[in-house]
Amino acid sequence: MDTDALFSDLRGALPRGGVLTKPGETSVYETDGLTMFRQKPLAVALPENAEEVCAVVKICRKHCAPIVARGAGTGLSGGALPHPAGVLLSLSKMRRVLEIDAKAMLARVQPGVVNLAVSEAAAAHGLYYAPDPSSQRACSIGGNIAENAGGVHCLKYGLTVHNLAALKFATADGNLVTVGADALDFPGYDLPALLTGSEGMLGVVVEAALRLLPLPPAVDTVLAAFADIDDAADAVAAIIASGIVPAGLEMMDNPAVRAAEDFVRAGYPKDAAAILICELDGHSEEVNAGMQKVRDILQQCGATSLVAAANETEREKLWAGRKSAFGAVGRISPDYYCVDGTIPRRKLGEVLKEIARLADARGLKVANVFHAGDGNLHPLILYDAETPGATARAEALGNDILRACLQAGGTVTGEHGVGVEKLDAMCGQFSPPELSQFFRVKAAFDPQGILNPGKAVPTLARCAETGGMHIRGGKLPHPELPRF
Ligand SMILES: Cc1cc2nc3c(=O)[nH]c(=O)nc-3n(C[C@H](O)[C@H](O)[C@H](O)COP(=O)(O)OP(=O)(O)OC[C@H]3O[C@@H](n4cnc5c(N)ncnc54)[C@H](O)[C@@H]3O)c2cc1C
Repeated sequence: MDTDALFSDLRGALPRGGVLTKPGETSVYETDGLTMFRQKPLAVALPENAEEVCAVVKICRKHCAPIVARGAGTGLSGGALPHPAGVLLSLSKMRRVLEIDAKAMLARVQPGVVNLAVSEAAAAHGLYYAPDPSSQRACSIGGNIAENAGGVHCLKYGLTVHNLAALKFATADGNLVTVGADALDFPGYDLPALLTGSEGMLGVVVEAALRLLPLPPAVDTVLAAFADIDDAADAVAAIIASGIVPAGLEMMDNPAVRAAEDFVRAGYPKDAAAILICELDGHSEEVNAGMQKVRDILQQCGATSLVAAANETEREKLWAGRKSAFGAVGRISPDYYCVDGTIPRRKLGEVLKEIARLADARGLKVANVFHAGDGNLHPLILYDAETPGATARAEALGNDILRACLQAGGTVTGEHGVGVEKLDAMCGQFSPPELSQFFRVKAAFDPQGILNPGKAVPTLARCAETGGMHIRGGKLPHPELPRF
């Protein structure tokens, strides 16, 4: 590749300052939230509108340069890890809420808009955007779409894919395509759903129409403490089995509780083996009746204490601990590795015990903080990267945990995507014919293979080489541009 010609074409297409090529400038982009992996791109492109995105894609196509889209870089699976021979396409300058259509209950936004900014803009109309990843103060809507992000309130209101009406994306040949509609159904294939969770491998999202919901008239939140983690797990299953659909149902184990409490003073009982935070929303009669039922279930399952939020400030305080838990764990361990897998809810207690056993066997500690209602686990493996061999042991434990999720009938990712992190785990989840269907979809959208190559879907050769499930060697997956 003629890199000088690539840089010159990019500079010609973008405003001054829109192309970064010096190592000092590009190093900021060398990793996302999965900091075990680092790679500088050849160049960073910072387009300011959809047309400039298309121009960058066309130039990269001409020069056969891989393109890695990047939102806020909070991804935890290395999806936005740059390609060494490619262009990092940052959407960070496209961060405008274009329209709040209160009548249609839609928000039209650019991809770089921060998740929380959508609800903030909609609040004046009594509306909000339901998917709320814990990273919502930082992560972008484009990244949420590409990862099909979830969050505390997704148990009741669905993931990103369920809250997306339409999107506009730049195709691999640099054209703009709009898919989806304001209506609940539309003719043709469900391309917005296909693009959602596709990790930047099928197109670059340049605009989205998001569904908004009315702010609920009543919200009630309760925190329950348990002396036994099994009792907390049973309570999760019992609440869901009762027919109540909580707006959020989250669990934290003792190490996570202690770390969060020391960090934000949310009022969590530091001696609890586990806590559950359960939130109901809706009309007040429905919420009051539902909360009485939830409290009864929690007590029947052995809760040692129940604390209800008396007002909005107290509610925010209860959630503050949960939402800062990852950061809090960072204070008790020099490094942590967040694993993301799902299991059937009824197996929560069993799998949590298995995780503790696996951690012991590897001589590591784990803190659990997760979307219990969805069965979406986030074991945070605590380690010190400065200790020789510790990173490899943490990765091996992550591998063990994902295998336990699969054995329990779950999946190797709940919401953080595959990226580079879980390529080998995908070999454990999918058979070669299933993976071949993914290759065909990729080839239909991106025959040249320039969009985020080497991510999300492992090659069959890789699966054969690694003998199925053998996670993370710590090396970059495919420095060359794979052909599909
Ligand atoms: C503390 C913390 C808490 C978190 N909590 C949650 C949580 O509760 N739920 C959850 O789901 N995730 C969570 N995450 C993970 C992360 O925030 C989400 O995956 C988020 O959706 C990533 O958004 P981003 O803008 O940072 O994307 P990036 O990290 O920049 O990119 C992620 C992927 O999206 C692709 N991409 C980005 N923008 C575009 C675009 N415009 N078009 C096409 N592809 C694009 C990238 O190529 C990459 O593959 C958490 C992360 C952290 C650090």
